[in-house]
Amino acid sequence: MTSWAANLGDCFRCDRGAIQVTHVGESIDPDGAETPLFACRACTERLTAMHQRAHETPVRRYVPAPTP
Ligand SMILES: [Zn+2]
Repeated sequence: MTSWAANLGDCFRCDRGAIQVTHVGESIDPDGAETPLFACRACTERLTAMHQRAHETPVRRYVPAPTP
Protein backbone atom coordinates (compact mmCIF):
# COMPACT_ATOMS: atom_id res chain seq x y z
CA MET A 1 0.00 0.00 0.00
CA THR A 2 2.36 2.66 -1.24
CA SER A 3 0.18 4.72 -3.53
CA TRP A 4 -1.33 7.77 -1.96
CA ALA A 5 -4.26 9.31 -3.74
CA ALA A 6 -5.29 12.64 -2.34
CA ASN A 7 -9.05 12.72 -2.26
CA LEU A 8 -11.13 14.84 0.03
CA GLY A 9 -13.62 12.80 1.98
CA ASP A 10 -14.56 11.25 5.31
CA CYS A 11 -12.32 8.87 7.24
CA PHE A 12 -14.22 5.71 8.16
CA ARG A 13 -12.03 5.18 11.20
CA CYS A 14 -11.80 8.50 13.04
CA ASP A 15 -14.92 10.08 11.52
CA ARG A 16 -13.20 13.26 10.45
CA GLY A 17 -14.73 14.82 7.38
CA ALA A 18 -13.48 16.85 4.43
CA ILE A 19 -9.88 15.69 4.86
CA GLN A 20 -7.41 13.96 2.58
CA VAL A 21 -8.29 10.30 2.45
CA THR A 22 -7.20 7.31 0.44
CA HIS A 23 -8.99 4.16 -0.60
CA VAL A 24 -7.94 1.43 1.82
CA GLY A 25 -10.35 -1.34 0.96
CA GLU A 26 -13.91 -2.49 0.75
CA SER A 27 -16.48 -3.25 3.37
CA ILE A 28 -18.67 -6.14 2.30
CA ASP A 29 -22.18 -6.16 3.70
CA PRO A 30 -23.96 -9.41 4.59
CA ASP A 31 -25.99 -9.01 1.42
CA GLY A 32 -22.81 -8.84 -0.65
CA ALA A 33 -22.82 -5.12 -1.38
CA GLU A 34 -19.35 -3.58 -1.43
CA THR A 35 -18.79 -0.19 0.14
CA PRO A 36 -15.45 1.52 -0.49
CA LEU A 37 -13.59 2.47 2.67
CA PHE A 38 -11.57 5.66 2.82
CA ALA A 39 -9.16 6.55 5.63
CA CYS A 40 -7.08 9.62 6.42
CA ARG A 41 -3.31 9.42 6.24
CA ALA A 42 -2.78 8.92 9.98
CA CYS A 43 -5.29 6.10 10.13
CA THR A 44 -3.92 4.53 6.95
CA GLU A 45 -0.44 4.43 8.43
CA ARG A 46 -1.78 2.98 11.68
CA LEU A 47 -3.72 0.31 9.82
CA THR A 48 -0.65 -0.56 7.76
CA ALA A 49 1.52 -0.81 10.88
CA MET A 50 -1.04 -3.02 12.59
CA HIS A 51 -1.16 -5.25 9.55
CA GLN A 52 2.64 -5.60 9.44
CA ARG A 53 2.89 -6.31 13.19
CA ALA A 54 0.18 -8.93 12.90
CA HIS A 55 2.31 -10.64 10.29
CA GLU A 56 5.52 -10.51 12.34
CA THR A 57 4.03 -11.57 15.67
CA PRO A 58 0.73 -13.32 15.09
CA VAL A 59 -1.43 -13.49 18.19
CA ARG A 60 -2.35 -17.05 17.45
CA ARG A 61 0.00 -19.63 16.07
CA TYR A 62 -0.78 -20.89 12.64
CA VAL A 63 -1.83 -24.48 12.76
CA PRO A 64 -1.35 -26.18 9.42
CA ALA A 65 -4.27 -28.17 8.17
CA PRO A 66 -3.74 -31.92 8.54
CA THR A 67 -2.73 -33.54 5.31
CA PRO A 68 -4.73 -36.62 4.37
ZN1 LIG B 1 -8.72 8.82 10.24
